Amino acid sequence: MSDKLNPFAIAQAQLDKAAEILQLDPAMHAFLREPMREFHFTIPVRMDDGSTRVFKGFRVQYNDARGPAKGGIRFHWEETVDTVRALAAWMTWKTAVVDIPLGGGKGGVICDPRTLSPGELERLSRGYMRAIARFVGLTKDVPAPDVYTHPQIMAWMMDEYEVLTGKHEPGVITGKPLELGGSAGRGDATARGGIYVVREAAKTLGIDLEGKTAVIQGYGNAGSFAHRLAQDILGLKVIAVSDSKGGIVNTNGLDPDAVAAYKRETRSVVGFPDADTVTNEELLELETTVLFPAALENVITEANADRIKARIVAELANGPTTPAADDILYANGVYVLPDFLCNAGGVTVSYFEMVQNAYQYYWPEEMVHQRLDQKMTTAYHAVHHMAENKKVNNRVAAYLVAVDRVARAVRLRGWV
Ligand code: GLU
Repeated sequence: MSDKLNPFAIAQAQLDKAAEILQLDPAMHAFLREPMREFHFTIPVRMDDGSTRVFKGFRVQYNDARGPAKGGIRFHWEETVDTVRALAAWMTWKTAVVDIPLGGGKGGVICDPRTLSPGELERLSRGYMRAIARFVGLTKDVPAPDVYTHPQIMAWMMDEYEVLTGKHEPGVITGKPLELGGSAGRGDATARGGIYVVREAAKTLGIDLEGKTAVIQGYGNAGSFAHRLAQDILGLKVIAVSDSKGGIVNTNGLDPDAVAAYKRETRSVVGFPDADTVTNEELLELETTVLFPAALENVITEANADRIKARIVAELANGPTTPAADDILYANGVYVLPDFLCNAGGVTVSYFEMVQNAYQYYWPEEMVHQRLDQKMTTAYHAVHHMAENKKVNNRVAAYLVAVDRVARAVRLRGWV
């Protein structure tokens, strides 16, 4: 992978820019440029046919100065340790920008979960937890879902941890099913947090979103909920959506229930009746007010950034825009809501889940929504003010806010 598209090289380059503006002490800069610690391990899994396959897994604890490391686990066939490092770095800045008392971490397994049976998936999930059990825990590192991992996987991992330690400790992992200590409102939290940020951004820009259009790339946890909430909360008309197999477009708008039902049945949005087909690349370039990249990294690059026509790009995915593309979008007046601000709703409600687990008393959904709204709104305005003051784009501004907070914690601890 070239450095231009290596997510960790990108994360480091983004930090370098912020370090320069903050005039960060060189030792602090060097410290924040690398993960504090990481674990690489093998996970042998007994397959249904009796054979054993050995998977490779990672857990990176990027920085825990502000609190225990926090971040999801991805199951993906293209996972690399550098993707996990980048995602762990972004988690560090994410928990800092929404000002929750947590650090940043991430995990990953190189596997194709689409080809595993439920039993194989359970054994892989339990094997992953066995491998990291000694390194994680309420006060050390708290994993969560990410790409291709879901509440049932969190339940298996929590159970494995509790079997190993011989006690109940639901807060060891978040994104659990409600029955096992999950939080109300965690399911749609990533999308909902992003929607609140778009609402605030529209006020800044003086745009009335009612009846305007939105386009969503990706139809997983973030993208599918964004479809519904963009319509219900912001009054946006969602005209195009996509998943890994391709996209669909209808300028009269797409109904979230109908598309979700179609995808449940056929496993893709492609072929949805009453819509034309578009490729994922074409979808990004559609005329729209808001574009939500909600899939994977590196989809907006210097190759297509000039053709992005959206007024607002709301990054629900982690790392969808490369640094070169960032500069082009900024020059073209596209208002980018950067990933670790825009998608921080998931980890924010994960934090609420940890709090509820700690005192075993659970909040109604309304309260979760209200507290999430407050966190996201405050974070957006902190970033917006920084962008205005320093005359930088929102991504650099978000880094300035987050890196400064992490650096203060590191300094106060006397590490650097
Ligand atoms: N995987 C999500 C993210 O990238 C959520 C992490 C968490 O809840 O800890 O923000």
